[in-house]
Amino acid sequence: MKKVALHDKTFVLFIANADIQTAIDKVAQKINAELAGERPLFISLLNGAFMFTADLLKSIDMPCEVSFIKYASYAGVHSTGEVAELIGLNVDVKGRTVVILEDIIDTGITIANLLKELEHLSPKTIKIATMLYKPNAFKEDFTIDYVGVEIPNDFIVGYGLDYDGLGRNLKDIYTLEK
Ligand code: 5GP
Ligand code: MG
Repeated sequence: MKKVALHDKTFVLFIANADIQTAIDKVAQKINAELAGERPLFISLLNGAFMFTADLLKSIDMPCEVSFIKYASYAGVHSTGEVAELIGLNVDVKGRTVVILEDIIDTGITIANLLKELEHLSPKTIKIATMLYKPNAFKEDFTIDYVGVEIPNDFIVGYGLDYDGLGRNLKDIYTLEK
């Protein structure tokens, strides 16, 4: 099995790039069908969602805009549970069809906070698309409209996701070796 060492830990291949692309394509087709006729504003959460955003948007076939924002809530392999300040939201979301793009939804705290902030700005609607989703870790009650792949409650890296800064460049997704 393909392995990768990052800092002090070893990760093993979990989702190959071809399977990631298939999942992203399905998400794109669903968005294309459901938001046909709209001009969505995609709001991508940096850093993790940059690769998902790049691949997803290539398969979106309607006129759309994309903007990047940033939070930092993760230190090492455990969620800190604290959500930092939102930066970079410099587009007017009033009346817009917004699609949040996230790399992974774990507890859901990050997106719950973002939803609170965005709702104050009176968008027409807010949809949520995530490449990965950990249903067993999820503690919030918002609806996730588009999910690439559901995964178990393990720590993963690659395809935009890091372990203390490393691993974002990996084209496949790896899970912590047990
Ligand atoms: P939540 O707020 O849903 O608990 O966590 C969301 C954020 O935590 C994600 O955007 C991601 O940055 C980080 N995160 C959650 N699970 C993982 C994981 O398994 N691996 C990595 N690298 N980051 C994760
Ligand atoms: Mg993230």
